[in-house]
Amino acid sequence: MAARKLTSKQLERLTGALHTERAELTDQVADLSAEAAVDRWRSDGSGDDPADRGAASSERETAATLSDHARRLLDDIDEALRRVDEGSYGQCTQCGRNIGFARLEVIPAAALCLDCKRRAESRR
Ligand SMILES: [Zn+2]
Repeated sequence: MAARKLTSKQLERLTGALHTERAELTDQVADLSAEAAVDRWRSDGSGDDPADRGAASSERETAATLSDHARRLLDDIDEALRRVDEGSYGQCTQCGRNIGFARLEVIPAAALCLDCKRRAESRR
């Protein structure tokens, strides 16, 4: 069953959600980089205990993983906003069918319809 094309109201709402999410993620990435920088500064000089160093580095890794994840999401959102400008937002980048409001409402940055997403995941 093909999903309907987005109405201008729905598009407006999703664009708003993308902008909100983008602002939150930008904050998050900034926070995490600040934390990593403080961590680096702290690990200079003090903390010769290997156990301490280990804990600090695993914390750093968690922050790095989180900010990686946030950056990837940011990329997805930027791509989605670019598609809004182009007028192709809401269409699957793989098969061109409408992704549908229900799915976009959950994941505004979704680039693939559910079918293509599933196919992409089963290939992994
Ligand atoms: Zn598709």
